[in-house]
Amino acid sequence: MRVLVTGGAGYVGSHAAKWLAESGHHVVIVDSLAEGHRQAVGKLPLIEVNLHDHERIAAILKEHAIEAVMHFAAFAYVGVSVHEPATYYHNNVVGTLALLEAMRAAGVNRIVFSSTCATYGIPTRVPISEDHPQNPINPYGFTKLVIERALADYSHAYGLGYAALRYFNASGAAADGTIGEDHDPETHLIPLVLQVALGQREDVEIFGTDYPTPDGTCVRDYIHVDDLATAHLAAMEKLKPGTQMKLNLGTGRGVSVQEVVDICRAVTGHRIPTRVAPRREGDPPELVANALAAKRVLGWQAKYQEMRGIIESAWAWHGKHPSGYDD
Ligand code: UDP
Repeated sequence: MRVLVTGGAGYVGSHAAKWLAESGHHVVIVDSLAEGHRQAVGKLPLIEVNLHDHERIAAILKEHAIEAVMHFAAFAYVGVSVHEPATYYHNNVVGTLALLEAMRAAGVNRIVFSSTCATYGIPTRVPISEDHPQNPINPYGFTKLVIERALADYSHAYGLGYAALRYFNASGAAADGTIGEDHDPETHLIPLVLQVALGQREDVEIFGTDYPTPDGTCVRDYIHVDDLATAHLAAMEKLKPGTQMKLNLGTGRGVSVQEVVDICRAVTGHRIPTRVAPRREGDPPELVANALAAKRVLGWQAKYQEMRGIIESAWAWHGKHPSGYDD
């Protein structure tokens, strides 16, 4: 298929674009490069454009005869979204509505959308299945939920086919070591812990040790970014105009912040000092996926079931690229 990948220079988007191209699809990447990295797209065609420019996006869709869109372009820091909601609503909501306008104008009626487990809020039951109520507790989660609702309405009214893929915690790096995670500033747990092992930070803060979890630290379901990529591919290939899919992408296994640090210690051989810090606003205690629907609908399952393998892939990338991408 001919696929437009928005945010294809970002972390998850670059891994999906790579898988798409390697699977024989024709890929065109659009990215504002506000957060993305030119180097992350390799040799794939990249057009530097903001989604708010919907006329230009529509022209790109037509010019490249695009059949489906994979939409990754978004801001994704839970903590920042609490303090800068305007930026998040503008980029994630207004930007996506502009993209949907461009798709309507160009007659493109298939989209795979990066949604998130943050749309569930504080779960009333874990593992979380797709029918769990969606009550986000931070602006980031709300922006993604707004778009899920818009997609459902557009599907009903305009025959849009969509997959809303609710990721749990994206992590790790491409198995071939070519691309990985590089955020500026970095706020995600695994890269921060590995930066301590690289001698770039003195210690890592543990945001809260008084959660109602076995060791008191937050529990998350870490899913390898290559597994996210293959799920996107499977969803896109299955998607028909006018149909919808809402699927969790996780492993079904919960790992605490303390356990992440311990596994990083084992993988890197570094002692990785930690410091207890207050809870971070907007963090639910436990987010773990029931990932059975994705298996049933897509025949997909995460290959990286063990946290150690995920951290080894991240460590390989960070070790080779201690300062991230060159740009
Ligand atoms: N976390 C932490 N210290 C840090 C960064 C993150 O304790 O320096 C915790 C955070 O509170 C959450 C988990 O690690 O419980 C994963 O956070 P991350 O930012 O990696 O992903 P998120 O869950 O926000 O998508």
